Amino acid sequence: MRCSICGMLIKSLEEAMEKSWVPYFLEGEDEHGPSCDSCAEQLLVEGPDGVHRLKKEFCGRIVYLDDMLNELFAEEIVLGHILN
Ligand SMILES: [Zn+2]
Repeated sequence: MRCSICGMLIKSLEEAMEKSWVPYFLEGEDEHGPSCDSCAEQLLVEGPDGVHRLKKEFCGRIVYLDDMLNELFAEEIVLGHILN
């Protein structure tokens, strides 16, 4: 499993749950995910309905790895690069 924002890899679902990864989140109406704990902390807010959403200031600024062609280049993508 790979964070759809920064590309961090995690071995198992159990580990992801332990580290408070967010399984999915919304940007407007679009569903993305998963997100690692550090991206979630910086970029997401949890709504009263328990659903995580991208903070308004980041909407339209994130290039999601789940939208990208393949994982080959994912290692080169870092959060700072994306937000630049
Ligand atoms: Zn991440």
